Amino acid sequence: MRITNYLGFSFLSSASLILGIVLLIACQLGWANTLQTIPLRLTSESITKIDLQDWLYINNNQDISQLTKLLEQPESTWKKFEQDQSQNIGVTNYWVTFSIYNPEDNLSRIIAIDNPLLDSIVIYHFVNGELISSQKMGDTLPFAQRPLQSNIFLYPVEFQPGETHKFYVKIDSLGSISLPIVLWSSNDLTQLTETKNLYIGLQIGLLIAISLFSFFIAFASSSYSYSYYSGYVLGLTLLTASIYGVSFRYLWPQWPMMQQYIFTIIIPLTLGFSLMFTEKALQLKYHNLTMLRICRIMAVIAFSMVIIMPFIHYSTALHILVFTVLTMSTILVAFSLIQAFTGQRNAPLYAIGRIALLSGCIVTGLLYVDILTLDISPQVPTMIGLTFEVVTMAALLALRYSDERKAKFNIQQQALAQAQRIREVREEALHAEAENSEKLEQMVQERTLELEITLRELNEVNQKLTEQNTIDSLTGVKNRSAFDRRLVAEGRISRRQQTPMALLMIDIDKFKNINDEFGHLTGDFSIQTIARILTEMLKRPTDLVSRFGGEEFAIILPSTDGEGALQVAEQIRLAICEQNITHNGQPIPLTVSIGVSADVIDSDEHPMLLLEQADKALYQAKRSGRNKVCYYALTADQV
Ligand code: GH3
Ligand code: MG
Ligand code: MG
Repeated sequence: MRITNYLGFSFLSSASLILGIVLLIACQLGWANTLQTIPLRLTSESITKIDLQDWLYINNNQDISQLTKLLEQPESTWKKFEQDQSQNIGVTNYWVTFSIYNPEDNLSRIIAIDNPLLDSIVIYHFVNGELISSQKMGDTLPFAQRPLQSNIFLYPVEFQPGETHKFYVKIDSLGSISLPIVLWSSNDLTQLTETKNLYIGLQIGLLIAISLFSFFIAFASSSYSYSYYSGYVLGLTLLTASIYGVSFRYLWPQWPMMQQYIFTIIIPLTLGFSLMFTEKALQLKYHNLTMLRICRIMAVIAFSMVIIMPFIHYSTALHILVFTVLTMSTILVAFSLIQAFTGQRNAPLYAIGRIALLSGCIVTGLLYVDILTLDISPQVPTMIGLTFEVVTMAALLALRYSDERKAKFNIQQQALAQAQRIREVREEALHAEAENSEKLEQMVQERTLELEITLRELNEVNQKLTEQNTIDSLTGVKNRSAFDRRLVAEGRISRRQQTPMALLMIDIDKFKNINDEFGHLTGDFSIQTIARILTEMLKRPTDLVSRFGGEEFAIILPSTDGEGALQVAEQIRLAICEQNITHNGQPIPLTVSIGVSADVIDSDEHPMLLLEQADKALYQAKRSGRNKVCYYALTADQV
């Protein structure tokens, strides 16, 4: 449309500046000689691809818009076309002419204007001085109106023998124009077109593949750098497709208006994405905050231009864009080089990519201005550089992604190790706690056991103590208090069971004398001996012998009536009487008197009464002459 191939590429790199300057100088020089128009002589032997630029003449009067007016112009207004003149930016009423003379053959050829971005082309076709057709072309017209459906502009011509064909071509374009006009045989053109389309297809395909791949990676990994890169490559794809005329043909063939705005929108948009991507790729946030700030400001400017540019006059907009792209690209290359020299890991790769694109653009520039001659289209080096740059950036992103993944993995490993350590420490703590509580429990159990043992021992001691309290220390039989308690208890049993109980009161006869005669120790011995005999004499476990006091004993015989008690008492008296008791070799004359009482207890006071009765019986026995058994209520004489 309004931009030529060269200009399109110039937006991609700062190389365009160098190129622009060279072109400007070339334009100044190439406006010199005026010549008669010489026709191309075409025969069947002619080569099948003829560059018509050598037979091209341009009219330097740019006010003429009508063919009739043009034809009125003198020959002198026509000048031989110079290569450099095609680099003008923004032309109207740009007339060129060329003639072809065919002396003898029937030939069919195609005129190709290999610049898909020209706004308007009108071809006036004369045969032997007669206008036979006028064809309007250009990317301001819908695609379908082209005589041959191709990305570039094609005009087919049939040559009869002896004919001279003269063409006047009027070009209007707001962008710069490039006029590679070539006469092709249809075979060769088809071949070339196919090959060229293959390359274009490959290049656009590669760009689409990379941008889609980056887009999906960005989507899958939520990575900003990949999404910016994806935007950048997508922008480049659209830009490339538009430069080749592919997007007009396939994307918006019915809307030539799109061609008006596509570059002024896509270029700053791509630039903006490129800046944002650079910020991420060079990791400016971590390495250089000043560069980060500059990068962001430039991105804001670029994105603002997306909105502003469509409202500015096209040529002016293109100039602004050239300047902006140039300045920003240079700054970015400088940034990447500075970062590379400060040892930033990703910067060298970035710099290589950018420099490759730059080199491609320089070669393209040199090819345009004929300083360099290569048998390739001038845009090829830029496209190679661009492809290399895109691939390099993809590699850079892949490296970055891998670095990030490794870093993430390391962090995860560290976190896992830390979690493991924490788990181990916690387990140790739990283990120690369990051990401690086990120990504690064990200790508590031990202490409890000890306490229980102590309590049991204490209990036993208490029991012993209680028992000892009931024992008379001299004789080992029960003492008086034990007797009293037992008397009450047996009284209750007797009362409940209505069984008789008997009491024996025993007193050693004339004991004072024994003490006096043998001494108190012998006296004690005698008391002990009597106690032993008494214990031995009683067979029933319920019978109780007790020392009632001094040399007196009392015996409780439960479930025993008076008769039985008398028998027991008699046996005791006899046993003591007949026992030959000696102490320290001396015989001790020991007899006892026994008072007996027995009854079925019928009241609480009855046991004490029974005791008094036994005591009275004892008194009676003493009075009856001692060594006697006396039953209460019975007189001593009856015994
Ligand atoms: P009787 O036949 O009338 O009972 O004459 P008795 O001498 O036994 O008279 P009594 O019962 O009045 O005297 C008791 C004496 O027994 C008094 C005391 O000297 C002596 N006696 C009391 N208890 C003990 C003792 O534990 N050991 C010794 N060796 N003598 C005691
Ligand atoms: Mg006495
Ligand atoms: Mg006595």
